[in-house]
Amino acid sequence: MQHDRLAPLFAPLTSLRGLGEPRARLVARAAGGDRVIDLLFHLPESYIDRRQRVALRALPAGRVVTVTVAVVRIERPANARQPTRAVVTDGTGFAEIAFFKGFPHARLPVGARVVVSGKADERRSFVHPDHIVPEDAAARLPDVEPVWPLTAGLFPWHLRGPIADALDRIPDLPEWQDAALQRREGWPGFAGALRALHAPEAPPPPGPRRRLAYDELLAGQVALALVRRRVLARPGRALTGDGRLRARALATFGQALTPSQTAALAEIDADLAAPRRMLRLLQGDVGSGKTLVALLAMLRAVEDGAQAALLAPTELLAQQHLRTLARLAPVPVALLTGSVKGAARERILRGLAEGALPLVVGTHALFQDRVEYHDLALAVIDEQHRFGVAQRLLMGGKGRVSDVLVMTATPIPRTLLLTQWGEMTVSRLTEKPAGRLPVRTTLHSLATLDDVTDGIGRALDGGARVYWVCPLVAESETADLAAAEARFAALRARFGQTVGLAHGQQESAVREAALADFATGRTRLLVATTVIEVGVDVPEASVMVIEHAERFGLAQLHQLRGRVGRGRDASFCLLLHEAGLTEAARRRLLLLRDTEDGFRIADEDFRIRGGGDALGTRQAGAPGWRLADPVQDERLLHMAARDAALLLERDPRLAGERGQAVRVLLRLFERTAAMRTLQAG
Ligand code: ADP
Ligand code: MG
Repeated sequence: MQHDRLAPLFAPLTSLRGLGEPRARLVARAAGGDRVIDLLFHLPESYIDRRQRVALRALPAGRVVTVTVAVVRIERPANARQPTRAVVTDGTGFAEIAFFKGFPHARLPVGARVVVSGKADERRSFVHPDHIVPEDAAARLPDVEPVWPLTAGLFPWHLRGPIADALDRIPDLPEWQDAALQRREGWPGFAGALRALHAPEAPPPPGPRRRLAYDELLAGQVALALVRRRVLARPGRALTGDGRLRARALATFGQALTPSQTAALAEIDADLAAPRRMLRLLQGDVGSGKTLVALLAMLRAVEDGAQAALLAPTELLAQQHLRTLARLAPVPVALLTGSVKGAARERILRGLAEGALPLVVGTHALFQDRVEYHDLALAVIDEQHRFGVAQRLLMGGKGRVSDVLVMTATPIPRTLLLTQWGEMTVSRLTEKPAGRLPVRTTLHSLATLDDVTDGIGRALDGGARVYWVCPLVAESETADLAAAEARFAALRARFGQTVGLAHGQQESAVREAALADFATGRTRLLVATTVIEVGVDVPEASVMVIEHAERFGLAQLHQLRGRVGRGRDASFCLLLHEAGLTEAARRRLLLLRDTEDGFRIADEDFRIRGGGDALGTRQAGAPGWRLADPVQDERLLHMAARDAALLLERDPRLAGERGQAVRVLLRLFERTAAMRTLQAG
């Protein structure tokens, strides 16, 4: 029924009047989809206001204006490179209308009175103006013209007809927005908003766009809430443990938990002890001690005779987690990654299947189908920012994991958290382990590289261990590598064998050895690409040099800086930047210099860079927003989250009048997975 109603919107673009196959392909490219709804959601980026009438006496250059003029004479070009020109006047002054090709003689005969709209240049010439209409047909001239994003070969007039047709095909839809909200915000209905944006009579007020942004955000929030509810509704298990293994791990660790580690662990324990499933985010700045909390949570599962797994994003991080866990855990810990092969792999697989291995750390290899667990209760996911991974684990074919803890060293801004996870239970580690000193951050122009190098030399003489991070060159790994190798060669020449090199394209054994040498102090200056960005833990390192800091995202710089300040020594971070720094770049680096508050930095980074790449590593996976902009529409996002929660509380099956309408909204925004949970549940 609903399906039928929406069918015209999901019909192919070619079903629209005036759109044949080749043109439809261009439109699809511009709109990012080949259905009617894609065109409707292809909103104008701006509007040309043609109501600005001027007298030629006061003709401005370079601005869209509309003039009413009479043609005085036609001037033919002296050669093929010159335009044909109509000299025109309105009685207050003169101007000309010029065409290099296809001069419209029929519309511009001498003596004709016409309305012309477009931009004149400094020589008072309208070159190929947008519109020329006879004065007695001036009504045909649009007052306001939407400017849609286009693509090569596509022109605005190609879109006008199909969009008008598409607007006519919007079916009668129930209103899914809350009436009081709509009244308060002064929003039009869904179809009205699309009309106001695509076929405006005046430049539209902000209401219509906000309304559509809210539609999209609400659909997202309801969908997330439905899927989460379904995921968490499956039977979980109560893990209580007796504290025996934990106590031993803490004794080995030898230091007290920080207050927020204690608080986070209590929250996690409450989740684990409850018979429902856990999906919790452990958010804490770099160095705040998440790994220890994760281990203690995992040991709780082991105390109950079950298994726990830690999923790391890279092989390198998996190996590092293994070191931490193996040092503290009073039970065996296995490593399972793609590079564990042969007999060793077989042994681990057997141990996991039989339960002899209670703890395992690894990459996604952990959850390949061939890996069988005896009784896996808890999965910890490190540095994953997408709901999908956790959802798959919790829903996984055998429903094998009952609890998931996601940890992130990147302080995800609340906005981004909402768009990717919906309302999520979060434990935050807000302070660093006692004794950690602030990192003193300074800015240096690359013009002073020699001085900086001298300074590093003195630090090395004093026994310091130094990271030297090489520039990020325009997205090219080979160029990054070249820069790192050149810097390595230069520093090696100066400081000798104490300089090491680690980058992402080394054989993992070579890279591991380089990192291990640095960790043990065999080398004391490590030249590296961003492979050291997350998680590398060498407490003795106290100096971080970042070359071309202006090329990194703020959050990424913060992550890198977090590699130092982990031990007892006073730590330094030197941001080397190119000599001519833009004002904006300078401001970003100054913010970093002046604060170590990861949440503030992340929020700022999010604002500067926008939602898509807020985490600095393109791992954000922010869903492709078409109508909303989570940064600009932050207020709406928070409203939508509350709205969705309230709606589902009152009408969990979306069966009421508004619930039914929201189902239409979900279909409109193709949140079909969420729809299926409604049918199933
Ligand atoms: P994160 O994973 O949050 O970046 P880690 O768990 O790697 O942080 O911890 C950073 C460093 O702090 C490690 O060297 C760890 O041993 C140490 N650490 C963690 N918790 C404490 C604590 N309560 N007291 C002292 N040191 C701690
Ligand atoms: Mg860590």
